[in-house]
Amino acid sequence: VKVKLHRPLEGKIKTATVKREGEHWYIIFITEVDPKPLPPSEEAIGIDLGTNPHFLVTSEGEMVEAPRHFQKAEEKLAKAQRELSRKKKGKSGRKKARLKVAKLHRKITNQRKDFHHKLARRLVNAYGTIVHEDLNILALSRSYVAKGIHDAGWAAFLQILAYKAEEAGRRVIKVDPKYTSQDCPVCGHREKKPLWVRAYTCPQCGALLHRDVAAAQNILAKAWTGPSGETLRAFPQGNTPRSPGL
Ligand SMILES: [Zn+2]
Repeated sequence: VKVKLHRPLEGKIKTATVKREGEHWYIIFITEVDPKPLPPSEEAIGIDLGTNPHFLVTSEGEMVEAPRHFQKAEEKLAKAQRELSRKKKGKSGRKKARLKVAKLHRKITNQRKDFHHKLARRLVNAYGTIVHEDLNILALSRSYVAKGIHDAGWAAFLQILAYKAEEAGRRVIKVDPKYTSQDCPVCGHREKKPLWVRAYTCPQCGALLHRDVAAAQNILAKAWTGPSGETLRAFPQGNTPRSPGL
């Protein structure tokens, strides 16, 4: 069978799966490769996911948006879906409309995957430790819906992040999301604030931070803190809370 090889095959081939998506055929190889560890890094970062309108916000104040072309492709998809719903069953033109919808779906899926891979690669290359909220614990909390976890495809992103980190010999730490959006990362003051409040102003120490950056800093700090607030390890240099993002 002739194939278009997207990248050279590496390692020992374990399985090959043939898959059809619409009019496209794919062959997927699973291969066994040796891990390629990156040099050790003391750099650590916390990431807060699903912070509308951003895909993620980091403890260093970086705000990553989902690529703009998503929106465009999603608008096109909605239009194609409306057209499809207008076509009567069995009539010519319906098949064509159905194919168009499937094609756009595939395009969006691929764009999302590409975005996830590149973002995960960038984080793994730059940081020895990446800390995020534990989705399983988060799923039981009320902020789950507010954060729109399902739409953003976080679980898929975190899976990619986890395996890229493992392959590179870097750490991904999951922490309990409790209070990460309520605590002051500078002095620890705890206060519940409505979601629409974008700036975190601490009444106790006067810290002024972007709400989601504060959350990401709390997430990072949790990786170094035990369940009763004890310090498990020293906060690495260069990761002391600052007030970026405002
Ligand atoms: Zn404070």
